[in-house]
This record gives sequence, structure tokens and C-alpha cells, in this order.
Amino acid sequence: MTFQNFSTEQLQKMDAGHHLHPFTDHKELRDAGSRIVTHAKGPFIYDSEGNEILDAMAGLWCVNIGYGYDELADVAAEQMRELPYYNSFFKCTTPTPVLLAEKIASLAPDNMNQVFFGSSGSEANDTALRLVRHFWVLEGKPEKNIIISRDNAYHGSTVAATSLGGMSAMHEQLNGAVPNIKHVMCPYYYGLAEEGETEEEFGLRAAKAVEDAIVEAGPENVAAFIAEPIQGAGGVKIPPASYWPEIQRICEKYDVLLMLDEVITGYGRTGEWFAAQSMNIKADTITTAKGLTSGYMPLSALIVGDRVAKTLVEKGGEFYHGYTYSAHPVACAVGLRNLEIIEREGMIDRVRNETGDYLLSSIEAAIGDHPLVGEVRGKGFLIAIEIVKDKASKSRHEPSGAGATAVRDHAIANNIMMRAVGDTMIMSPPLIWTREHIDMAAERVKAALAGALADLS
Ligand SMILES: *Cc1c(COP(=O)(O)O)cnc(C)c1O
Repeated sequence: MTFQNFSTEQLQKMDAGHHLHPFTDHKELRDAGSRIVTHAKGPFIYDSEGNEILDAMAGLWCVNIGYGYDELADVAAEQMRELPYYNSFFKCTTPTPVLLAEKIASLAPDNMNQVFFGSSGSEANDTALRLVRHFWVLEGKPEKNIIISRDNAYHGSTVAATSLGGMSAMHEQLNGAVPNIKHVMCPYYYGLAEEGETEEEFGLRAAKAVEDAIVEAGPENVAAFIAEPIQGAGGVKIPPASYWPEIQRICEKYDVLLMLDEVITGYGRTGEWFAAQSMNIKADTITTAKGLTSGYMPLSALIVGDRVAKTLVEKGGEFYHGYTYSAHPVACAVGLRNLEIIEREGMIDRVRNETGDYLLSSIEAAIGDHPLVGEVRGKGFLIAIEIVKDKASKSRHEPSGAGATAVRDHAIANNIMMRAVGDTMIMSPPLIWTREHIDMAAERVKAALAGALADLS
């Protein structure tokens, strides 16, 4: 590859000169210089300085099958030679999105049988927002327009996705969100439960916040509730078992559509194809992206339930929405083969029956007693570690986020890539991790905490 003719310093200089990175403090980055990741294999990434790093984030929660599946390069090359692009507008389509839509429908919950493609999770959530509002117009209830979301939700970074999300710093910069989106508390037991409140009680209280918002707005004005089954970028917040059944009851009672954002939880991460299945949630739309192609190509799929699809088809009239790259034939070819690999290799069964529990118990055993650790929680291949100053009072290091940032820096120095979200450390590894990779991760996380403790005290 041509970049091998350039030194790390040359690439960093050009990067600083011309490349604006996503979610970055550009001043800080230019002082520090970028880490340049040059290649990857299986569970490891390699940087231009020759470091081999265990990628506990699967890229950005997306490389579910790990790196280096040549098969995906081959199907992409074949498809590019055969037909690199044609659109699905104007009563046309190409074969691979047809096959992929059929495949996704076969894996999705029974009531979900239609798929709308985009290139990112953000785009898919834009589609979802427009589709549910369009649905209620077609139903003759245009005033049913408000969408309820949650604090700290992450639904992407376009204007609509930022508006749906509940990240206050993003809203401040947006300074003018899409109207009629309201946010309520999220079911974050460790951080928000009251003294003596059980998990079950807390789950019901968090669900009641949704009901209160619906009642306050007037159910006749509320189109949908949107949520991640497990909040991802918000800090791997796993709701108590009482939460989702109560949400389901509330949505049914007030005839409010349920929009699930499974951009992270989709395609195996929780030990089923979708969290809707592992957590028994019946949705009207499911947003998916990331693991759909394991990040080998940009692709998203909004999976649409029968109720919404039926109205869309029966009432007719054009839905004025779509992207040039909706149903991109190369991305869909890669997505289809990626799902076939996940299935063929039994990756999801392994997470459900073996490695998911082993991951959580190994991390707990390695660091559960560490003075910086307030809680370790997880489901499937999602792990959160709460970093605290004091276990009993759950107090945090100052300034906010300093504890987890110190752990993150030491994790990378110990050759494990993890992410800090506020004061929480996150893992979302590729589904291919074996017990050996998990043991390696546990050891490195333990070393990272030891390093961070020395810095912080
Ligand atoms: C990453 C993510 C998105 C946005 O996906 P992009 O492909 O980055 O646009 C949306 N929702 C959730 C839950 C995500 O984690």
C-alpha cells in the first residue's frame, strides 16, 4: 500500500494539516498527533509504530466478526466487477439488496419483514423518524407527531439523529433541534437509583417517566418512543428486567409506536441476533447498522414491522425519502456474506452459551475488588466498568471523567483498546474472542487499573 512509503511523522503532519476528525477536540489532537492504525488481523489492530493492540471495542462497536476475513474482500471485488452501483429508485433494484433484505427479515422478530437501506445508523434513524411521522399521517392522525426519547441516548450525529439523541453537549452545539422530541430519564440503576430502591422498583420508575411524558403531551399527540435496548455510547446501561415489559405495556396502552435502536445490539452482540429477541421486546421499527457488515462497508438497515409496512403499502402515495446509496449493491453483498459468516461460524451461539458469561465473570474476577471499580456489569459481549473515587459513596474523580480517562490511557499503553464514556469504561469486543483473548483482556484491564490508581492517588 502506498502509505507505507510515508513515515508516522509525515502522516501525522498531513493529518493535522488537512483532516478534520469526527468527535474530536482539534486543538488537543494537533498537539498530540494521531495514532495511525495501519492493519488488523482477527482480534488485533496494529499501528504505524508496530504496536499490537487487542481491540476490545471491535472498532467502534462494529467489527463483530473480527478483522481479516478475506471472503468479504472477495465478494466486494466480485460485486464491483459485476455491478459496482445501480440505484433502487424508479422501480429498479439490484440482486444483493433483495437477498439481504430477505435474509434480515428471516433473522428479525416474526412481525418484522421489511427493510429500508442507508449507509449509516444516523441515516437509518432519520429514515425511522420520517417513516413513523409519515405513518401517522397516512393513518389520518397527523397530530400524533411527538417522539419520546431518553437522556444520554445516542442515535447518531445528523441533525435528526442528534435531536433524537439525548446528549446535552451535542444539543448545545446543534442549537436548534428537530421539534417535538422530548427526553426522559434512562434506566441507569447504578447512577440514578434512590437509597434502598430495588432494581425492579427502579425499572418501573424509569418506565413511568415515559408514561408520564406521554400523558403530559397527550397520547393523541405522541407518535413513538425510541430507545436503545441497552444504551451503548451512553455508557452500556442495562435496564432492570422490569423495564422493557412495562415500556411495552405503556406503548400498547397509548398506541405509541416502539422504535428500537439496535445499531450496537443488533447482529449478535447480546447473544441473539437482536436484543429484541434476547430481551423479548416487540418493536415497530428496529434501526441497525454497525455489525450488519462488521464495518467492512458502510451500510444500515431500518427493519420495519408489519403494522407500519402494511399502512405504507395499502395507503400508497410516494414516501419522499431515500439516499443515493440506499441498497448499495457492494455494501449489500458484503452484508449478506457477513451474516452468513456469523451464522456459519456459530458466533452468536458461542457468545450466548459460553464466552458472554466468561467475559463478564473474568473481568469481575480480575478487577471487581479494585478500589477504583464501583461496578462491573455486562450482557453478552457488552461490558461496563464504573470508575469511582470511593466505592461506598460512589463519588467520582475530579474533573468529571478524569478517572475513566486515566484508565483508558493506561489500557492503551497496555495494548488493549477500550473506550471511556464519562466515568465509565466500555468493552464491546468482536464476537470471535476466545477464552484466551478474554484472559488476555482481563490481565490487561487489571494492569491498566493499577497504572491509573498510581496516577490518581
Ligand atoms: C453508532 C450509533 C448510531 C449512529 O450510527 P452511525 O453509523 O455512526 O451514523 C446510532 N445509534 C446507535 C445506538 C449507535 O451506537
